[in-house]
Amino acid sequence: MACGGGGSSPAAPSPAATIPAATTPAPTPGPSPTPTPAPPAATFTIDLPISAGDAVNDFGGVNPFGVHLADHGVDGHPGWDFQYRIGGLVRAAADGTVQSIAAPEAQRPNRFVVQVSHQVSGRNYRTVYFGVENVRSAIVVNASISRGAVIGEAAVLSQVIGTAQRTYATIHFQVDDFSYSGGLTNQNAVSPALFLSAGALALFTTLWNDAAYSGEPTEPFWSNPRDVTFPMTRRWTRQRGDLAEIIELTRPNGTSNDYSYRMLDAAGAVIESGTAQTAPFERPFPTIDLSPTSGGSRRGLYDIVNNSMRLVLGAAGASRPTGFTNESSYTTTGSASM
Ligand SMILES: [Zn+2]
Repeated sequence: MACGGGGSSPAAPSPAATIPAATTPAPTPGPSPTPTPAPPAATFTIDLPISAGDAVNDFGGVNPFGVHLADHGVDGHPGWDFQYRIGGLVRAAADGTVQSIAAPEAQRPNRFVVQVSHQVSGRNYRTVYFGVENVRSAIVVNASISRGAVIGEAAVLSQVIGTAQRTYATIHFQVDDFSYSGGLTNQNAVSPALFLSAGALALFTTLWNDAAYSGEPTEPFWSNPRDVTFPMTRRWTRQRGDLAEIIELTRPNGTSNDYSYRMLDAAGAVIESGTAQTAPFERPFPTIDLSPTSGGSRRGLYDIVNNSMRLVLGAAGASRPTGFTNESSYTTTGSASM
């Protein structure tokens, strides 16, 4: 998916000018001053740029932070992509000031990136909304914007996936923290998960539970590390069911939906290996086809949410199961809050 999170970005906003305090006599030092800890800084919190009623997931739903996909196959995804219903409204995540509005893609002159700056307790943040069309007239550079205000609509894109033409609306949402720098591109980008309001966390959890996206079998968290190497292997350990005790899935690079796999028994012996092809945008559940090095192919369904995976496979040569009946469940290490 071309989410548009890459490329250059304007410089950090300047801190607001500091108004000097009125001159007061310096206090006389006390006999043994005890350092007083600074009061806790006000924290930057965000809502999501999407409302519950505007969310759909037939083209992924959410692409998480850090995942390696399409145009972020090398450096990892620097934000969250949200899929909207066609016509869905993009909303400001926090109070701030419109920093820039631009249409950086020559071939899509109506698809804007809007950047909003935020100063909280002397720290500079920026929220980025990439892929907005019909930007509202009130959204102009230097305008104040309130949390929840409509910026525009999620731009509609169309592309061929496999043999099907897919039309969908999506934005790339990014949070830049100018006290942080790392990575190859979008070096101030941090996981939006760090700043969620309680309401945003509740909504995000709902959206996330239904999301299915490329790379999920090896990068299943809403915040994944950007700095990784391929091939990437993730080990899933069975909690329930009849399939193999251990399944390892290995992704060769940051853009493929084709994996290799190994199934291991409880003693660690390999009992089957081969290739696995996933179709992450199939619904109601993404599909996985296993082609072992010997024996017939098996068609299945998977459903991953954070460190949990449900997996159901048909018998060799049989048709694909239609739902999770007698499925096996697996867990992997790590957590969504990493
Ligand atoms: Zn993106």
